[in-house]
Amino acid sequence: EKTSVTAAIGGGVIGGGWIARFLLNGHDVNVYDPHPDAQRLVNEVLSNAERALRRMTMAPLPTKGKLTFVSSIAEAVRDADYIQESVPERLDLKLKIFAEIEKHAQPDAMIGSSTSGFRPTQLAEGLKTPERLFVAHPFNPVYLLPVVEVVPSAMTSPAVVERASAFLTTIGMKPLVVRKEIDAHIADRLLEAVWREGLWLVNDGIATTQEIDDVIRFGFGLRWAQMGLFETYRIAGGEAGMAHFIAQFGPALKWPWTKLMDVPEMTDELIATIASQSDAQSGMHSIRELERIRDDNLVAIMQALKAKPW
Ligand code: NAD
Repeated sequence: EKTSVTAAIGGGVIGGGWIARFLLNGHDVNVYDPHPDAQRLVNEVLSNAERALRRMTMAPLPTKGKLTFVSSIAEAVRDADYIQESVPERLDLKLKIFAEIEKHAQPDAMIGSSTSGFRPTQLAEGLKTPERLFVAHPFNPVYLLPVVEVVPSAMTSPAVVERASAFLTTIGMKPLVVRKEIDAHIADRLLEAVWREGLWLVNDGIATTQEIDDVIRFGFGLRWAQMGLFETYRIAGGEAGMAHFIAQFGPALKWPWTKLMDVPEMTDELIATIASQSDAQSGMHSIRELERIRDDNLVAIMQALKAKPW
């Protein structure tokens, strides 16, 4: 679907990534973000994004869209065909923003939310036109990682889900339409399990943040980048296949340590340990430098994959 005008409400880490993806795929973007430094921050993300996409493709990039900073939600959404909300993760704030968007948007505008945790039904509360609202949950950096979880509520129109998925595909994304809404959607539920165990391992002094990161990046992280979880285990099952793999390791799944557990108490001490270990890992680089290192690696990995994810 051809969309010429998009609106970004919120231009932080995630909003900035969306803005870059929209612009670098040729769409105009109206940005509303009241933060006094919003323009500088968005432009910094945009320049890293341009650098990454130039490395990604040999072909010339499409003509960049026009970036306009505006001073109200009304101005941002008035002409927009696609609106993406990326304000801080607070339900009261998001509800206020959607009410304002709804008041000023075109009747057929698509409204996506970047929320990591809320269900679309929670976000649609009080809206007169909940049929055009859905979650479009991306991953950082939004301008490079293709996957986006598209989560409709029971009130979202199937036609809107289809149009939104088509549009997101045209800007190089791989939409995964989530069948049933659930807190934190799909990907973050998996990540939360790994995060929780990482917190325990640091808390109990079993491993440092560096050691945990290394075990992922030199080990299963490499496998996950190219075949994911189930296909990886299918191969591990050998000729006898997946059923054999589960039969072999299935009994272990009943052991107490494989059951879901609460996160460890986030004491000041644990937070300080994690922060100082993390600083020791990469505190010598600025965040923008780290983003460039990350982007170069991501581009290299995506270019190397035989089955390209886009
Ligand atoms: P962030 O703090 O970096 O950015 C939020 C931005 O919203 C800030 O620039 C802030 O100035 C702006 N803002 C605050 N009030 C506003 C208002 N009333 N109107 C417009 N803009 C306003 O946060 P983030 O990490 O970009 O997260 C934004 C959303 O994206 C959250 O819902 C989060 O759950 C989701 N998300 C985050 C990640 C991640 O990895 N950080 C990944 C996927 C989704």
